[in-house]
Order: sequence, then structure tokens, then C-alpha cells
Amino acid sequence: MELSYILNELGEERENYFNAVSPPIIQTSNFTFKTVADFRQALGNEFDATLYSRGHNPTLNILRKKLAALDGAEDALVFSSGVAAISVPILALLQQGDHAIVVENPYSWTIKLFKNFLPKFGISATFVDGSDTANIENAIQANTKLIYLESPNTFSYELQDLAAISHIAKPKGILTMIDNSYCGPLYQQPISLGIDLVAQSATKYLGGHSDIVAGVLTGSQQLINKIFDHEFMNIGPSLSPHSAWLLIRGLRTLPLRMQRSFETAKIVIAWLQQHSAVDKILWPFAANFKQAQLAAQQMQGCGSMFSFTLKDPSIHKIEEFCDKLQHILMAVSWGGHESLIIPSIAGFAKGDYDENNIRHRLIRMYVGLEDADYLIKDLEQAFK
Ligand SMILES: *Cc1c(COP(=O)(O)O)cnc(C)c1O
Repeated sequence: MELSYILNELGEERENYFNAVSPPIIQTSNFTFKTVADFRQALGNEFDATLYSRGHNPTLNILRKKLAALDGAEDALVFSSGVAAISVPILALLQQGDHAIVVENPYSWTIKLFKNFLPKFGISATFVDGSDTANIENAIQANTKLIYLESPNTFSYELQDLAAISHIAKPKGILTMIDNSYCGPLYQQPISLGIDLVAQSATKYLGGHSDIVAGVLTGSQQLINKIFDHEFMNIGPSLSPHSAWLLIRGLRTLPLRMQRSFETAKIVIAWLQQHSAVDKILWPFAANFKQAQLAAQQMQGCGSMFSFTLKDPSIHKIEEFCDKLQHILMAVSWGGHESLIIPSIAGFAKGDYDENNIRHRLIRMYVGLEDADYLIKDLEQAFK
């Protein structure tokens, strides 16, 4: 399916709403029925019926069709956060006694999910360095039911070989799932590489304007139905129709925004690389990135977020540099129009800083939609 068709037409039935270009926000909790027979049929199939908006809503349905098509998946579910799009399917597909293999250093709340939350239900996890597929293969146990990936992650950008891992998992009946927030559907297509479930924080690139929190999960009809029928409807992590509408609106410009951020990131990174205060830069499309070959093989483009370290390792220097930025904002999250910075040191007590630990020294920068010159000027004055 063509990208332009997905973003501009798919799922939209304009003749049903006055031929309006922009779809209506069906801001309702429930839907009425004229006959008991119709009502009974809807109650028997909440997935497809307009019955109650925790399960199904026409505005969300437009969005689901677009998101599934973007990932080349049979279907999609949308959630009230990216975290829900990760935790709800895992709760649906794993049972007491099951084991999961999880990549090292995934998103912070994913770590807490596997370390603190799932053990309460008797689900165990082994964290491995997934940049070597053999580590994943060696961690497989008789009760392993899930391999959870995040390629690349959003702080140190380690990649996993998605095709090789799905090749190992499939014959053993082990499900594979990835957090694809960093690349999004335009720059990485995990389903075409054999991955079963693709989760994304739609708060980031898909929404694109830092005004909603949302998540999406795509996969086969069978898996999506199974997740919907029980855990999704029981936990109730439904997105509001208004947020769904904002997300549809965000999708219209997704290719433009991603291309622009990618191009600007290349310019900013090239400038940082030649700066005397900068030590290392971590970005999957940098020529000296240790997994550059794998990145080129399985990614069609690269997110506009990267991390770097300063030559001077003192915590004071990192703080001073970040405090001096005037236009690049200091905040969590990413994927919006505004460029952001987050130093690793903001995440722990000053006394715990270890300058020999490269992860402690990382400063993460997200490049938004501003002009490259504008960002470089801000970085330059902060270095001075
Ligand atoms: C933000 C983020 C999440 C969580 O998404 P929310 O929408 O904040 O719940 C998950 N994974 C990655 C990589 C993220 O950046």
C-alpha cells in the first residue's frame, strides 16, 4: 500500500460525514441500538462493533487501520500510553511460570515491568546483551515464551539483528516483540523481518507535537484479537477519541517531520564531531558506530536522537553545559517539534556519579524541527 494513500485516505469514509476532509471526533462513550437482535450481535463482538468506546470507537478505528498498514501488519490496537502498549500484550500472552529474554537497558519502565511487576505473577526474565544474537540463543530455557527487543534503544543505541533472532525464535514457538519507537514505521519494518509484535510510544514521532500520550501495538489478527478479548478490555487502557484525532493529524506530516529531523541531526552531529569539547557520539548512522553495518542492513533511516560525551568528564562541566542551553530544552521524552536534551546525570544522585562509567557521562539530544544553525548556535554558546 502506498504511504500517501495510508496517510491521506485509508480508513476515512468521508461520504458518511458530510465529505469533511478531517474526520469527526466521535466523542461518545456508548452507541444505541434499534433492535434486541442488533444489540445482541454487538455484545457478542466488541472488537468490531460500535457498542462502547472502551473497546471500539469510529475515530480510533480510522487510526488503527492507518497504523496497521504503516507497519505492514494485519491489525493494530491503540492505547492510552506507550507503556500500556508494552505491558498489556505481555500480560495477555505470558502466564505464571513463563520466562522472557529481554535486551539489556531497554526503556526505564520496561526494566521495571520485567524486574518488579511481572515477578509478582510468577513470570521471570533474563536480561542479555542482544547485540550478539548468541547471547539470546544461549539464554533460552524450556519455559521461554517471549524474546523482548528494543532496537535501537534510546540512550546508548544498541541494535539487535531482528531477522536472525526471529529465525531462532519461530521454530521454538517463542514470540518476539520489539519496541520500535526510535525508528518508527518509516525507518524500520520489524514485521517484514519476522517479528511478531511491534509496540511504539505514539507520544513520540507518531504524535509529533508533544501534546498527547499514546501507544500502538501491531501484529497478526490472531494475536491482536487475543490481547483485546481479555487483558485489553479488563485493564481498559483505551485512548480518548480526541487524542486519536490528534494522532491522525500528526500522521499526515510524519514523513516530512522525520525526514527533516533526520537531515538536521546529520548536520548537528557533523558539527559536534569536529568540536574540541566533544568526545564520543553514539548514533546508529554515524560512520564509526560499532553496529553501523547492521543499522544500514535493517534500518531505512535513523531517528534524530543521539547521545554524546564531553572530553572533560567532570559532573560539574556536564551540568554547566546543559544549564547554559537557551533554546534546546531540558526535558524527558522526544519526538516533538522541539529539540531536547537530557543528561544521564539527571537520573541519579550527584554522589553516585562514576566518570569511568560511559553511561553516566552520556548527554542525550533529540533534534526537532528547528533550523540546524539555530541549534548549533545554542550549542556553541553553551560550550563557551
Ligand atoms: C517514551 C517511550 C516509551 C513509553 O511511552 P509512553 O507513551 O511514555 O508511555 C517506551 N519506549 C520508548 C523507547 C520510549 O521512548
